Amino acid sequence: MNLRTAFERGLLVVGIGVLAAPPTAARGVERQSPDLGAARALFRTNLDAIRRRDRAAYLACYLESDSLARTGPVGFRLGFKDLADRTGANDWPDFFDASDLKLAPVREGIVYGTYRYRVRYGEDEQSGLSERLFVSTPRGWRIAVTTAFPAPPGTPPPPRALVGATLIDGTGKPPVRDAVVVLRDGKIECAGPRTRCRVPAGVDTLDLGGLWITPGLVDAHVHFSQTGWVDGRPDALDARDVYPYEQVEERLRSHPETWFRSYLCSGVTAVFDVGGYPWTVAMQRQARGDPRAPHVAAAGPLLSTLDFWLNLPAERQFIYLKDEAVARDGVRYLESLGSAAVKVWFIIAPGRDFDEMARAVAAAGDEARRSGLPLIVHATGLREAKAALRAGAKVLVHSVWDRPVDEEFIRLARAGHAIYCPTLTVADGYARVYESVRTGKPPAIDDPLGCVDSLTLAHIASTPAVGAGRLDPSRGADPSGLAQLRGIMAANLVRVHRAGIPIAMGTDAGNPLTLHGLSVHAEMEAMQAAGLSPMAVIVASTRGGALAMGKLDEFGTVQPGKAADLLVVAADPLAGVANLRRIRYVIRGGEVRPLDELRVRR
Ligand SMILES: [Zn+2]
Repeated sequence: MNLRTAFERGLLVVGIGVLAAPPTAARGVERQSPDLGAARALFRTNLDAIRRRDRAAYLACYLESDSLARTGPVGFRLGFKDLADRTGANDWPDFFDASDLKLAPVREGIVYGTYRYRVRYGEDEQSGLSERLFVSTPRGWRIAVTTAFPAPPGTPPPPRALVGATLIDGTGKPPVRDAVVVLRDGKIECAGPRTRCRVPAGVDTLDLGGLWITPGLVDAHVHFSQTGWVDGRPDALDARDVYPYEQVEERLRSHPETWFRSYLCSGVTAVFDVGGYPWTVAMQRQARGDPRAPHVAAAGPLLSTLDFWLNLPAERQFIYLKDEAVARDGVRYLESLGSAAVKVWFIIAPGRDFDEMARAVAAAGDEARRSGLPLIVHATGLREAKAALRAGAKVLVHSVWDRPVDEEFIRLARAGHAIYCPTLTVADGYARVYESVRTGKPPAIDDPLGCVDSLTLAHIASTPAVGAGRLDPSRGADPSGLAQLRGIMAANLVRVHRAGIPIAMGTDAGNPLTLHGLSVHAEMEAMQAAGLSPMAVIVASTRGGALAMGKLDEFGTVQPGKAADLLVVAADPLAGVANLRRIRYVIRGGEVRPLDELRVRR
């Protein structure tokens, strides 16, 4: 959008008026001054006109005079005729929110007011502050001066109080009925029963009676370097002749907003990218201060005991963990890059001695400790998992799935304060791809909320056609193996949880059919089906994820001082975590967005 249209649109915003319910605190003032009531009524009239896209009613709110003054980011305009000429059919916003209306009488017959706005024209969103001056005329109250200025990036949204919901705060404590949560400056100011957390004077309220609030969900295991389909994983199904890998990666690098949106749309307000290209580390900064992105922490390139080929010609996501020297060099490189963690892919590499690999992993752990970075290890075998814990792993990013965990494993995990991130459903995605190619039927897509972008949907629908003739026939031929894995993973999750080891929900999103965002719901449901209580799953999907990211002091629970990242759902998640799909609002950094605003498809 160019500045001229920004100016015009900014001015149209001025006419939007107040969407939110009238701030209760202002009513007392209004009783003292009929002028304030009249000014507020004019706001409403104006708002209705915008809603109905009624140009005549909209223009009727303004002073029909050559002195009607309007100011936007590029300057000043005068005259009613100019406004009328510039108000056209295409100027109405697709979405708007207006709140935090403040009115002050200047003198009899003149009222000054401001409010905060947020508007969206297509994909272009702007927030800002709008002023106006209302005057009493023989023909009624009119707007005589209007201004609108976009807020600088990082400006927190206006304060808001969420009233009447049942609060599940993420700590595991019993829910609080009829709760109040006050959001201010992007953070939680207070949360609790109405008697303890009061709605401050002048703060707009949002009535959430009959709904449930949880912390925003945290996916502690994602990969922004992968698409959720086979084009990002040619090792699973090689379609590089149709989807050149370097082009796939370039799209991922240059369009993070696709996934940012699908995460928020799914209720996910923080993600941990535990392995990818170096640019994933830069996404941490990109997402910071962007209310349309989840919090992002990223580990960057992985240190892998297997010399894996899936790299770009001039960029690596896998650093071959050949020996202890590479381990130390690799960790220092990650530290210089700004990585949030050191991720090790501990794969039993054919022809390598186990102890020799374990020593390299231990060296990575030692160097990680020295540089203050947590060690995260992909370890699906009990032996690797124990070696990882001995090396100081803080997060184990997959289930142990080759055999039941034992006492020694539990002892090591406890002693090292490790967190267990089970990723129960990622293997199913691969199985569903292979099955789709075999049967010729496109895989079903679990997207009831409408969060998945059209390109991803089209790719998934094309799976049988793309897979035909390209799938290695040995892949996924024996589904019984998967059933066995599932059983071991479920039992291990319950055992680890009962032993008091913290659990963090993670999906491994980006892998084929483990879609960015939506896949958290299937994962949480699988955790519940494995034997965790809904409360335990919610804690793992909020507090546990924040703990795994090392960000529990910033988010993960609904407590004063933490980020105002919340999920509002229409049914009780303690009756079953599938109810977390029934999203009404997603709140990130205090910005309250109805689900409809985040959907790709409506
Ligand atoms: Zn992974």
